[in-house]
Amino acid sequence: MPNINADRLWASLEALGRIGAYQDEASGLTGVRRLALTKEDGEGRRHVVAEMKAAGLDVTVDRIGNVYGRRKGREDALSPVMAGSHIDSVATAGRFDGCLGVLGALEVVKTLNDAKHVTRRPLVVAFFTEEEGARFGTDMLGSAVATGRLSLDAAYALTDRAGLSVRGELEAIGFLGPAEERLAPPYAYVECHIEQGPVLRAAGVDLGVVTGVQAISWMELTLSGKSAHAGTTPMSLRVDPGVVASRIQLHLRELVKSGRFGSELRATMGVTRFEPGLVNVVPNRVMATVDIRHPDDAVLKRAEAELHDFMQRAAAEEKVTLAWRQTARTPDVAFSARVQDKVADAARARGLTFQRLVSGAGHDCQELARLCPAGMVFVPGEYDGISHNPREYSTPKQCADGVNVLCDVLLALADEA
Ligand SMILES: [Zn+2]
Repeated sequence: MPNINADRLWASLEALGRIGAYQDEASGLTGVRRLALTKEDGEGRRHVVAEMKAAGLDVTVDRIGNVYGRRKGREDALSPVMAGSHIDSVATAGRFDGCLGVLGALEVVKTLNDAKHVTRRPLVVAFFTEEEGARFGTDMLGSAVATGRLSLDAAYALTDRAGLSVRGELEAIGFLGPAEERLAPPYAYVECHIEQGPVLRAAGVDLGVVTGVQAISWMELTLSGKSAHAGTTPMSLRVDPGVVASRIQLHLRELVKSGRFGSELRATMGVTRFEPGLVNVVPNRVMATVDIRHPDDAVLKRAEAELHDFMQRAAAEEKVTLAWRQTARTPDVAFSARVQDKVADAARARGLTFQRLVSGAGHDCQELARLCPAGMVFVPGEYDGISHNPREYSTPKQCADGVNVLCDVLLALADEA
């Protein structure tokens, strides 16, 4: 089995990490801010496309801005083995999230080029649009469109906070491609990604073999009440949506603590925006978000139902109007046992220790899993696996181990009879 070039991989992570770099005031570190379809994302995309072309890949851009770099196979009419991830980021990101999977797959191609190895099946390196959902509110946007979960029109119509649309912004950065967005099923899809959590590092293992992704539900709540003077308005006359948001947030924790949904329910209120947002004014409107997750979709559904009951009740008690919309909802996804075993075999053959685990975060791989056998290699992260933060860090060796295993798995699949 060829070894990837760890230094070249590291240099490519650093080079992409310089695009959209910003000075993070909270940590004093340099972070990455490459929100989907911004100028910075456009620059990152052009950088990766140039790298793809330099590696001899044939690049196509589809109508939702997903980018595919194809390497010919010996039997080029066979369906390709695909690897990739995303290069868009949240507003306060590190250099590894997503980029490791894209640049890792590209490093595999460079390694095969160096070894003059042409695989039986074609290989495709992919990166997908707006995986984070950080700008347009729907995560795995590009891969969801490519695999048919979301229509192109629905995706185009999404807007960011400034009212700018996905379609307009794709056009603005030059990535509104001509290629058909519905992806023909690849032979298999493999994604290398940082774990973004503390499990692997705590277990002291080299790698994670991902068994699947937990079910995820995102909601956006709009609570409307009545603005009033904080000093002159008696408490009994207030209609305060802020109180309802706070009660819902506490209820999320109570749902978890109740134990009624096992030990694996995770619930977060990540955004609260009070309007007008002044110290001496009862807010008239609050926008809040809810993120709840569970490895079992049926259990998540029960938690959602209980939460909705509570939200209605709390709003009614405070005479606040509640409107909500689902901004993302994905069921749990089980990854292919065959791909999982190939990842485990490759790790074993290289003397790397591993653990099987469910992914706590959503990934493009869960969308691709609808089309073909799919699986993921997780790389541990330092500092409790902190991610979506400039402190996000995996060592050069951790990254190289993950990409070596990715390489082995891609070769095994692409040369499979
Ligand atoms: Zn990611």
